[in-house]
Amino acid sequence: MKRTLFIVLSLVCPFISFTQKRNTKQYHQSIQTAMDSAYHKYKSDQRGNNADYIPALANVPSDLFGIVIVTVDGKVFSIGDVDYNLSIQSISKVFTLALVIESRGEKIIRDSIGVNPTGQVFNSIYPIEQHQGKGINPFVNPGAIATTSLVQGENQDEIFNKVISNMEGFAGTELNVIPEIYESEANNNQRNQAISMLLHSYDRIYNDPIEITDTYTKQCAVGVSTHNLGVMAATIANGGYNPITKNQVVSPKTSSHVMSVMTMAGLYNNAGNWLYLVGMPAKSGVGGAIISVLPGKFGIAAFSPKLDSYGNSIRAQLAIFDIISTLQDHPYLVEPVK
Ligand code: GLN
Repeated sequence: MKRTLFIVLSLVCPFISFTQKRNTKQYHQSIQTAMDSAYHKYKSDQRGNNADYIPALANVPSDLFGIVIVTVDGKVFSIGDVDYNLSIQSISKVFTLALVIESRGEKIIRDSIGVNPTGQVFNSIYPIEQHQGKGINPFVNPGAIATTSLVQGENQDEIFNKVISNMEGFAGTELNVIPEIYESEANNNQRNQAISMLLHSYDRIYNDPIEITDTYTKQCAVGVSTHNLGVMAATIANGGYNPITKNQVVSPKTSSHVMSVMTMAGLYNNAGNWLYLVGMPAKSGVGGAIISVLPGKFGIAAFSPKLDSYGNSIRAQLAIFDIISTLQDHPYLVEPVK
């Protein structure tokens, strides 16, 4: 009996793995085709404007456009300007949140910051006043500065080193601050400093408010390519395991909490429209990039500097939406069991 089972299995198994391989190959081909088509469809879309409240961002060439997908088994697909060194901006909030959850547990985020979406523009002070510094969400500036203030270290250098090393783990490569971007924002930082001081007045900032705002500003000025962002997104999609370096950067549980916050607040006060259309956790930055993840399948990054009124890249949103629709990969789109 056992012997018959063994013979049947050894006859069927190569067939199963052959069909799986063929399906994977077809799926990989369809990823590249969907990416190429979205890229050409939106390459000349001129809507939106570069962010200019950080003066150096206004100088980034507006025509840049790149898309990268990295699957959880480490296959990389790309098209366009995927090597340009852009500033990570608010996408850094994802990784600092992961760092704090990983090192201090998820409860500290619920207790010290809150996770409900604010429904307000990313640099609004209203949620601070409305909730007396509570319920400010790690992906809008007040909650993000507070999240950075939860990273423990003897001084700001040590804190920043932890923040950037953690990002490097996700990217699988060395990263550096872009000095012009950092200086440009640091010299125009009154609003974030005010946010931090207001939080301080409610005892909701957990380090020196002005110094930690500077560390947060450096965190936002870290340079990444769209390729790096694709790997970072794939690491989140893959339960915190970097599919390129094969390192466990954070635990699957940490990744799951991070994806939940990305789902609710990744695209600020446009997160509802995004979720309705695309259904995937995502995070944008005013540098023009967006990352999004299909849990257990792949991470996607798209970059183009022109933004809509919410501060989200127009081409990046269009491209990701188009690709996910073509691949029929909306996570809530299910084949009915009949
Ligand atoms: N560094 C930017 C800021 O704090 C990040 C904002 C963003 O990307 N939405 O204003």
